[in-house]
This record gives sequence, structure tokens and C-alpha cells, in this order.
Amino acid sequence: MSTEPPALPKSPSSDSCPRCGKSVEMSFWTLLPSRDNHRILTCGACGGHFDLANASKMAGVMGGMAGMALGVLLPFDWIIRAGHGSKSYLIAGVVVVAACMCLGAVALTRILLRLEARP
Ligand SMILES: [Zn+2]
Repeated sequence: MSTEPPALPKSPSSDSCPRCGKSVEMSFWTLLPSRDNHRILTCGACGGHFDLANASKMAGVMGGMAGMALGVLLPFDWIIRAGHGSKSYLIAGVVVVAACMCLGAVALTRILLRLEARP
């Protein structure tokens, strides 16, 4: 399985720095829902601090849950059946579900991306 981040569609406005308006590079990991509420991102152009808006973070959590549900409903079931209950197939199934969760979270965060200036 590839660990490369998927190519996400770029929209010109949603990933602009809330301070200077320059487009900021949002990495795959930045878009994953984080439990760290004190995380601050720094703009590479102006050095200003910002973070994802709460709505975007919520979108990530919802996307993650939807991705996990889809992963459990579809590939997980197929993989378990293909492996006839073997342990390595079970592990592969869990990995696939986790990947679906991450992809769902990142996709929905990216779609509903909004950045807010932070002090
Ligand atoms: Zn900036």
C-alpha cells in the first residue's frame, strides 16, 4: 500500500492565509483531525499564525466517521471473507479501514476548508 498522500483538488481561496491571502501548503497531516487544540500553523509567506476553523475540524471528524463506516461496510468485509478469518487478513482489513477513515477526514476537511487567524 502506498503511503503517498493523495492528490487533492486545489481551490484558490479556501487555503489562503487569513492574514496575507497567499496560498498556504496544507499537508495531508495538517488536514487530519487533531486532538491538539493548541496547534498553531505558521504561514510561510508572512509568518502569521493560523489554524483550521472549527467548522473545518468538525468536517474532518464527520468525514473520518463516514470513511470508517464505508471502510467497515465494504472492503473490510471483503478482505475478511477473502482471508477466511486468517489473522493477517484481519490486520490488513483494519489497516484499510484506518486508511478509509483518514482519507474521509482529509477529503471533507479539504472540501470545507476554512482558515482562521490565530494570535
Ligand atoms: Zn500569510
